[in-house]
Amino acid sequence: MTDLQQARLMDGTALARRITEATAASAADILRRTGTAPCLATVLVGEDPASVTYVRMKRAACAKAGIVSRQVALPASVGTAELVETISALSADPQVHGILLQHPVGGHIDERASFEAIAPEKDVDGVTMHSFAAMGFGLPGFVSCTPGGIMRLLDEYGVDLAGKHAMVVGRSAILGKPVGMLLLGRDATVTYCHSRTADLSSLVRTADVLVAAVGRPRFIAGADVKPGAVVVDAGYNPGNVGDVDFEAARLRAGLITPVPGGVGPVTIAVLLAQTVEAAVRLLG
Ligand code: NAP
Repeated sequence: MTDLQQARLMDGTALARRITEATAASAADILRRTGTAPCLATVLVGEDPASVTYVRMKRAACAKAGIVSRQVALPASVGTAELVETISALSADPQVHGILLQHPVGGHIDERASFEAIAPEKDVDGVTMHSFAAMGFGLPGFVSCTPGGIMRLLDEYGVDLAGKHAMVVGRSAILGKPVGMLLLGRDATVTYCHSRTADLSSLVRTADVLVAAVGRPRFIAGADVKPGAVVVDAGYNPGNVGDVDFEAARLRAGLITPVPGGVGPVTIAVLLAQTVEAAVRLLG
């Protein structure tokens, strides 16, 4: 096989850079007009290494875009009431424009109640029922960042979704389910697959646009990818491996996201963009 027969890569790093440049310009403009920089509060419960890394990456990205980040670190032993109280205080704090609760928060905590303590106008990670409903109704609001990033990638590469068979493997509330709703909103014909789906392999072979959001390394076989399909791999597994067998899939796909350097960077860029958008709305 020559390079000519390989799929074109969807470069998430480059797109994230462009989004972040525009976000930084907006953040600088807000600071100039109001004397206040946009501020994202990050809430971390416990010391799970992956969560610590994610929060550190998000705070570093904020710094590059001129967004102030306020870190709130709570011990793993914190209870639901205290966590909800902490988030409610951030929701009421006029100096905070966006709130990110890093999950998972620990099995003993009511995660949904904690998310719901985020004021809708500060829900820049798109995790509240308000944001989910707004997305479902096609109304303005903040989208969950990874689905939002996936749509930006598809738009960046001019993927025409109308009438296409889009398949989402995974149905989590923050990723699989919302990305399917966004694809439906763009007139794709959407199929959701999950752990109870029968004969996944045959279904994948019919997908014009495939979004993998499973959390299992190389779960989607390259041989199952429909020739010319658009493959978006949201999976991020230990060892920097996605949910799709990339090397085999790129020989059949038309467009494909690498892991790393695909969905991940755009997800963070969307978080920053939505934080600045929240600051614009709150500060005027
Ligand atoms: P999750 O909550 O664990 O959901 C996984 C989904 O995969 C579930 O809907 C599950 O089905 C489905 N699934 C599991 N085994 C399956 C099987 N054998 N066949 C078909 N479907 C199966 O995970 P998540 O939070 O959505 O994350 C998914 C992946 O995306 C992970 O690798 C995660 O690290 C990555 N991720 C990346 C970003 C980013 O910024 N790039 C952000 C978030 C997540 P059931 O519902 O039936 O259990």
